[in-house]
Amino acid sequence: MNVHEYQGKELLAKFGVAIPAGYPALTVEEAVAGAKQLPGPLYVVKSQIHAGGRGKGKFKELPADAKGGVRLAKSLEEVESHAKEMLGNTLVTVQTGEAGKQVNRLYVTDGVDIAKEYYLSLLVDRATGRVAFIVSTEGGMDIETVAHDTPEKIATIAIDPASGFQPHHGRSIAFALKLKGDTNKQAQVLAKQLYDAFVSLDCEMLEINPLVEDVNGNLLVLDTKMSFDSNALFRHPDVFAMRDETEEDPAEIEASKYDLAYIKLDGNIGCMVNGAGLAMATMDIIKLNGAFPANFLDVGGGATTEKVTAAFKIILSDPAVEGILVNIFGGIMKCDVIAAGIIAAAKDVNLSVPLVVRLEGTNVELGKELLNNSGLPIVAANDLGDAAKKIVAEVNKGK
Ligand code: GDP
Ligand code: MG
Repeated sequence: MNVHEYQGKELLAKFGVAIPAGYPALTVEEAVAGAKQLPGPLYVVKSQIHAGGRGKGKFKELPADAKGGVRLAKSLEEVESHAKEMLGNTLVTVQTGEAGKQVNRLYVTDGVDIAKEYYLSLLVDRATGRVAFIVSTEGGMDIETVAHDTPEKIATIAIDPASGFQPHHGRSIAFALKLKGDTNKQAQVLAKQLYDAFVSLDCEMLEINPLVEDVNGNLLVLDTKMSFDSNALFRHPDVFAMRDETEEDPAEIEASKYDLAYIKLDGNIGCMVNGAGLAMATMDIIKLNGAFPANFLDVGGGATTEKVTAAFKIILSDPAVEGILVNIFGGIMKCDVIAAGIIAAAKDVNLSVPLVVRLEGTNVELGKELLNNSGLPIVAANDLGDAAKKIVAEVNKGK
């Protein structure tokens, strides 16, 4: 689960992290009222969407030379005019995709006089199984570009979970950022606060880009991107309460209600599979046959008729879907039970696109017989390769 910048900063502030003062706003009036509580004379009006690259982003509704989604304002009037231009409009950034995201919330912050920008993030490094800090002197830029062009400017400092965060980690981080004197000390304190926040809030990722040094040598967290391990959210009701469903894909929200792992993709072949590994393999084989999956969908081990029906409806809610491939291994479930579920679901949703079903496992013959006698235009497949070939052929018929 992701949260907005202002929510992430709210959480970090509880750990003592230094952040510029700011107020979230849902309306132009709230934005101005927020700004009035700040010292000025420099304010920053920031679009709150679950995507980065806002500063360089473009609003769909505004002329191409209009300013982006993070704007400096030198007066309350400027705060007002920026807020008016941003609220309700669609911001397209490198991370939103072409469709962009509608800006429904703003964050008005105290403007910082920046001397230098740095990059700092924490993530779970799967290679070492440790929480790692990624830091760079090249802040405010796209870190992927830094990693590609100048990898030597990125340092990784991993924390052994047995020892936890030690003072030497803080020193390594401050050293990698080439900080001197008091700023160096501030970085060591900040690193510990961020590590504590990351671990105790069960974060998946915490990115500060940029971390800035102001003209007085103070380190401040200027931007925050935070995501949390969904499996641990039950431990953090305060974090869960920050969920903004308007930022999420409606189909993915619907899927989560039925405990279905669904991720929307760009292709035209809907997939319904049990088991994440089998789902990945199914997507690969569809691609191998020259087509593209419309989604990843794992219905899990105990696929009931209700779940299968919900899965069909979610797949079909995507207008790009031109055919569905069902690939189910009847291990815990029996194939005849699954076949009955598929038939009931297909009838219930009035299936209008070709459907290829590949079943394997217990009672597979009985399952196939049920599908063949169902009277529905279901194409039965013998194996995974056969299934992929058949659905691609069905979808390409008449093209
Ligand atoms: P992002 O584009 O979504 O990553 O949004 P950021 O919050 O990182 O803001 C983008 C850029 O705007 C930063 O890298 C800064 O250069 C600039 N910026 C943001 N806040 C301030 C501020 O308080 N003062 C100044 N001078 N620039 C700011
Ligand atoms: Mg940023």
